Amino acid sequence: MSLSAKVAIALALSVAVVGGASLALALTEHSRSRREEFRATTVEALQLLALAVAPSVPDPRFHHRAQAVLDNIANYPERFPDLVALEVVDSSGTVVADIDPRRYNLRWSNAQTRRDLARLDPTTKELDHGQLLVVVPVRLASPLGVLRARVSERRLEQVLAKQRIELAALVGGTGLVLGLALYVVLQRMVGRRIGRLGVTASSLRRGRMDVRAPIEGRDEITEVSEAFNRMAESLQAYTSDLERAVADRTAALSEANRRLAQLATTDPLTGLANRRAFDERASRDLELARRRDRAFAVVVLDVDRFKSINDRFGHPAGDVVLKEISTALAEGARGTDIIARVGGEEFAVAMPDTPAHEAAHAAERMRDTIERTVRAGASPSLHVVTASFGVAAYPDHGETLSDLVAAADRALYTAKQSGRNVVVTAGTGSP
Ligand code: GH3
Ligand code: MG
Ligand code: MG
Repeated sequence: MSLSAKVAIALALSVAVVGGASLALALTEHSRSRREEFRATTVEALQLLALAVAPSVPDPRFHHRAQAVLDNIANYPERFPDLVALEVVDSSGTVVADIDPRRYNLRWSNAQTRRDLARLDPTTKELDHGQLLVVVPVRLASPLGVLRARVSERRLEQVLAKQRIELAALVGGTGLVLGLALYVVLQRMVGRRIGRLGVTASSLRRGRMDVRAPIEGRDEITEVSEAFNRMAESLQAYTSDLERAVADRTAALSEANRRLAQLATTDPLTGLANRRAFDERASRDLELARRRDRAFAVVVLDVDRFKSINDRFGHPAGDVVLKEISTALAEGARGTDIIARVGGEEFAVAMPDTPAHEAAHAAERMRDTIERTVRAGASPSLHVVTASFGVAAYPDHGETLSDLVAAADRALYTAKQSGRNVVVTAGTGSP
């Protein structure tokens, strides 16, 4: 149940309890005064009636006049709806007039008559069944008798009960209306605003960092909303700092990884693949060739008398020669070929889809390019650089990459033996 509903129910109950208690007190007082008023009016009317009948009471010849007065009353019951019984009793205790003619001449006990005659003022006595006995002295100069009447208070009680119900309904209704009004006001002033604050908080929790609580008026809820917004502001700043830091770190990490991967697979001097990358990629390509039943060639080459180049022109000049050779190899190779520096001055080229004789041709072109273009030292003491080549191909000279490399190495050895600067294909024994 919402806060507004709870407060509204509490108010409605308080109004009902406090209102009900005050109403009960007021009703008791109201009933008492209405009863007193009713009795006083009744006594007053009967006193007037006693005065009217007094002259007829002492003399039996005039009793009919008193009876005529009472008959007049009996004939109009609608005017005297509360009157139950009414009679005039003389000083001897005899009923001399009565609205009920059957009671005429009835005698009251002497003791009762004496007691009644002794009273100077009217008396009232509550009887059973909501009836009231009223005895009013009939007197002129001396006591002549009494007027006895019984009146019913039932109508009065019914009116009072109806009033009680109406007032209770009024108090209950007022409590209900007040409760409803308070609920509406609280809902607008408090409930709706707290609800909106809650919605904002859940959006923030779901990651919407830009949401802010609405600021309305100036009260405690406004203060809570402002505090919430400050917190959201800090959280947003902190989160974006964190995201930036994470993005920076991630970028640095992937750059480091990229460089690490490059270092692990690349020869730093020539930028060609190193032996590890060559083995990995060439094995993959050989596997593909095996599955597709295609040819696959491996060419290995070794710079001729490279030691003497280093010795004559220095190690840095030797490095330049190695770079120029890598450029010459790249020029003579196809896009799908894998060129690698696999040792100090040793290179290897893997050639997918290439049978031995085509690979020997390609190697020959490379050998020729090196001989024509690669030079060591500065002019005029230029030194022509050459390289020897060994060629082997799948499936003719081996099944696995290491078989093919070994076969190509043996062919390279043959090339060196036969005077260098030549291409030898495996299994042929000569250039
Ligand atoms: P051969 O024709 O029989 O191959 O003779 P070679 O002198 O080329 O053979 P050897 O294996 O005796 O010499 C290879 C030389 O290559 C020895 C080494 O100092 C040099 N070398 C190896 N790696 C590098 C390098 O990265 N830079 C330079 N400048 N020289 C290197
Ligand atoms: Mg060598
Ligand atoms: Mg060499």
